[in-house]
Amino acid sequence: MTKVLIVGAGIAGPTLAYWLQRAGYEVTLLEQAPAPRRGGYLIDFWGAGFDVAERMGIAQEVMGRGYRMREVRQVDEAGRRITSFDPDLFVHGTNGRYVSIARSELASIIYAALAERVESIFGDSVRTLDDDGARVRLTFDSGGTRDFDLVIGADGLHSRIRRLAFGPDAQFEKYLGITVAAVELEGHRPREELVAMMYTNVGYQVTRLSLRDDVTLVLFTFLDDGSVADGDTAAQQAALRARFAGAGWEIPAVLEEMDHARSFYCDRASQIRMPSWTRGRVALLGDAAACPSLLAGQGSALAMVEAYVLGVELAQARGDHTLAFERYERRLMPFLRSKQKAAVRLTPAFAPRNGLQLFLRNSIMKLFSLPFVPGLVMGKSLRDAIDLPSPPPAG
Ligand SMILES: Cc1cc2nc3c(=O)[nH]c(=O)nc-3n(C[C@H](O)[C@H](O)[C@H](O)COP(=O)(O)OP(=O)(O)OC[C@H]3O[C@@H](n4cnc5c(N)ncnc54)[C@H](O)[C@@H]3O)c2cc1C
Repeated sequence: MTKVLIVGAGIAGPTLAYWLQRAGYEVTLLEQAPAPRRGGYLIDFWGAGFDVAERMGIAQEVMGRGYRMREVRQVDEAGRRITSFDPDLFVHGTNGRYVSIARSELASIIYAALAERVESIFGDSVRTLDDDGARVRLTFDSGGTRDFDLVIGADGLHSRIRRLAFGPDAQFEKYLGITVAAVELEGHRPREELVAMMYTNVGYQVTRLSLRDDVTLVLFTFLDDGSVADGDTAAQQAALRARFAGAGWEIPAVLEEMDHARSFYCDRASQIRMPSWTRGRVALLGDAAACPSLLAGQGSALAMVEAYVLGVELAQARGDHTLAFERYERRLMPFLRSKQKAAVRLTPAFAPRNGLQLFLRNSIMKLFSLPFVPGLVMGKSLRDAIDLPSPPPAG
């Protein structure tokens, strides 16, 4: 039986684990965090990733645990409505296959679908990796050594497996000039149920979403040289306070409440661009391989697509991992590259560089309130130009 180590129990890792165990592989899932991670940000889930969720039998649960927003509202510094539109247009444009869900909820639904059929190790990671052509020998942070036939890095944007097998991040990380901070607050006021409130100014955007259990998610996206994300949480929060001192709308209150935030996340909006995602017996997946950044609004769904395609190709290649890796790359690389290019074009929407970009951004938002415009603008981008292979028979 082929022994595979999948590093990272986020979105891509457990999805691949699902398809490989189904095809008869012996799978070990390794996660650095001591337990499945909670909290974080809300993601939009749609497109080919939704198809994968359906094939895993989890789409209904994803819909059930997600949110259907009823309004996207742009406000000014005093909280007055500038314009708004009904996001139901995304739902219609995808035939009802569109939902917003907490990233951690999606991860936990996928993980639960494994139903303990794979070995899971939490609170550990890979320290060294040696691929001698016949097998991969790994040492772990906890001290042990183990051999696997294949190693898959699904350990996110800052993948350690990528560093160990392919080289330093600088070769592959393309920073888009925007840093993101996601703050989860408890008991924040005001709150409007199922309304995405956005305040945008030159250099930044702040979005507020009211989630269940009186939790509010505030998402900052702002122009930065990339250094803010490098600090620890205290330094990141201090930089955020300095950056947004004197800003309008509810920002002063949010910054004050940040000390008691339920969760805080800050990172660069970067893409990973690699000439190849595989080397020898090691392959990369999800953000580790081809992160499109949050600007794509689809990274989780794409991570599931990559996991599914790699799983199918490995199952069909009957032990020939080289062939499977080749097919995996050939099928997906152009598609992922086009998603990355589209995301770059959206940069001004998340942090306009000047008054003109802000004006254009708000004008487009206003057009969205007209009935025929959203379909015209979004129609094509809501369809993923990829044909998924059929699922392999269970092994
Ligand atoms: C603010 C924000 C908003 C976003 N909005 C959307 C959206 O609307 N729609 C959407 O589809 N996507 C969105 N995304 C992107 C999405 O979250 C990612 O693309 C997706 O989570 C990628 O999945 P992944 O499994 O590749 O990586 P991740 O989900 O990052 O999972 C990686 C896992 O690996 C673990 N790990 C890391 N290092 C190690 C190590 N050394 N050893 C072991 N384990 C390790 C991590 O703890 C984590 O569990 C957004 C991202 C951000 C930051």
